[in-house]
Amino acid sequence: TDPRYIRNFSIVAHIDHGKSTLADRLIQLTGTVAERDMRDQILDAMDLERERGITIKANSVRIDYPAKDGHTYVLNLIDTPGHVDFSYEVSRSMQAVEGSLLVVDATQGVEAQTLANVYQAIDADHEIVPVLNKIDLPAAEPERVKEQIEDVIGIDASDAIEISAKTGLGIPDVLEAIVHRLPAPEGDRDAPLKAMLVDSWYDPYLGVVVLIRVMEGVIRKGDQIKMLKTGAAYKLDRLAVLKPSMTNIAELGPGEIGVFTASIKQVRDTRVGDTITHVKKPCAKALPGFKPSVPVVFCGLFPVDAADFEDLRTAIEKLALNDASFTYEMETSAALGFGFRCGFLGLLHLEVVRDRLEREYDIDLITTAPSVVYHVHMKDGTMDELHNPADMPDLTDVSHVEEPRIKATILVPDEFLGDVLKLCQDRRGIQEDLTYVGGRAMVVYDLPLNEVVFDFYDRLKSVTKGYASFDYHLTGYRQDNLVKMQILVNEEPVDALAMMVHRDRAEMRGRAMVEKLKDLIPRHMFKIPIQAAIGGKVIARETLAALRKDVTAKCYGGDATRKKKLLEKQKAGKKKMRQFGKVDIPQEAFINALKMD
Ligand code: GDP
Ligand code: MG
Repeated sequence: TDPRYIRNFSIVAHIDHGKSTLADRLIQLTGTVAERDMRDQILDAMDLERERGITIKANSVRIDYPAKDGHTYVLNLIDTPGHVDFSYEVSRSMQAVEGSLLVVDATQGVEAQTLANVYQAIDADHEIVPVLNKIDLPAAEPERVKEQIEDVIGIDASDAIEISAKTGLGIPDVLEAIVHRLPAPEGDRDAPLKAMLVDSWYDPYLGVVVLIRVMEGVIRKGDQIKMLKTGAAYKLDRLAVLKPSMTNIAELGPGEIGVFTASIKQVRDTRVGDTITHVKKPCAKALPGFKPSVPVVFCGLFPVDAADFEDLRTAIEKLALNDASFTYEMETSAALGFGFRCGFLGLLHLEVVRDRLEREYDIDLITTAPSVVYHVHMKDGTMDELHNPADMPDLTDVSHVEEPRIKATILVPDEFLGDVLKLCQDRRGIQEDLTYVGGRAMVVYDLPLNEVVFDFYDRLKSVTKGYASFDYHLTGYRQDNLVKMQILVNEEPVDALAMMVHRDRAEMRGRAMVEKLKDLIPRHMFKIPIQAAIGGKVIARETLAALRKDVTAKCYGGDATRKKKLLEKQKAGKKKMRQFGKVDIPQEAFINALKMD
């Protein structure tokens, strides 16, 4: 295709502002998908993503659009994930396109992720077309939101397009704006091949599928190609475009976006941001690489039933084939036996993976406390990356510990500001900025990631009744007074409950943990002390009283079926418990004990 008739774009929006619905309408109105095959959120491929209403993998679709000027244009939409955990995926797909539609819900206005995402688009030098969505709703305030876009983001919103992605109102104007307001790609067709590896995923039938954007030159089926960073060479089996189903194509030239397969074994062999060129006549210089996605949250995943370990291994290996940002290694825990230490981009990513393991592979899991990566500086001058609090070295050898910090931006209506400030303060936050953005407060906090990974987002939503929006990025490491807190149940340390805490908050956290555990652990025939300790010193203690009588005693001893039922119920409950020394601890205890109220 002649680059003059190509337009590449992405849609940036805060979650729920209507990105997926707009993509559906663009696909539908141009007849890209036959009406009978059309379904909602067609680009959000995985069921789980659809249920949770989030897009995880960047998806792409090629749309043929006969414009009013008489030419037919090829429009390539790269859909990007909207959640904070995946902001890295947003940034990389931005590099593959020239423009963005900035979708803002006209009843809500600019939100934290609107800002984070649009700044990434601006960083990637995009031309930006503002689109005001949900104009069908009576609460829509397009004029106010336009002003807000101009004030806060600083781009001209006078010719923002007013649409309803739900009813289809204004969609033809969006298509014309894509053609006339976004720039065409550029690139020399006769130059050596230079293509960007935008994304890759594992397809059970096709193997690894690689999404590319051609910058210069031409790629054809059967070509011998190589990846500059990894040095690996492959022969192209298949070249296709996504409409959104895979449709074979003979070649892709400058500005075009498509996929190929080439007998690549695993997603790990493809590096996002790598440059693809021909083995013969390679391009001289690689594209500027992207930063690799590094896991920032780690936790242990153990099967509830030790016999499921091999199944868990198989399931994790399969999942990892499709998700290169998820890492795992085997772990043994004195209390939990064999399992895996897994790394995630953030807490949502962790939840998605855990859900998939439990649902798609039907494995009951114990998830240990999520932990960030600490830098432990030893007295001998060396530094260890600590992924698991249980591995914290002896304090006498440690010089100091550093923890990752984030910069969090929160937008919130004034009435909830006090609660938000308190929450951030409670989580050891340092306020950096407080301004007003079209009637709402925008606070910027420097926070320890450790205080955010567990339940910060849930707490934020609950104290603001869902009105706050939140975005964050990592800023670096800083030293603080951090110690390992152990939990002892019946005098035995439970390594899966060990955690790193700030010394000043240790008593408070320790007390909360032992109180929670007292409620979460069922009574036994004997009395159970539950303690929190730092380096052998007990800082909080509760005692779980012993069970007086046999549980079945209250069934009047006579009714045999009731007694049997009760015992069966107990047995089923037992399946979700693990034994620690003489004590059974239910699965939920591991995650619930850590939640702060
Ligand atoms: P995304 O998170 O940005 O992909 O948002 P979705 O496309 O999933 O939309 C979020 C919700 O808003 C869904 O319930 C949509 O049905 C609804 N929605 C999207 N566009 C419109 C619109 O123009 N009008 C109305 N009334 N609802 C809309
Ligand atoms: Mg969506």
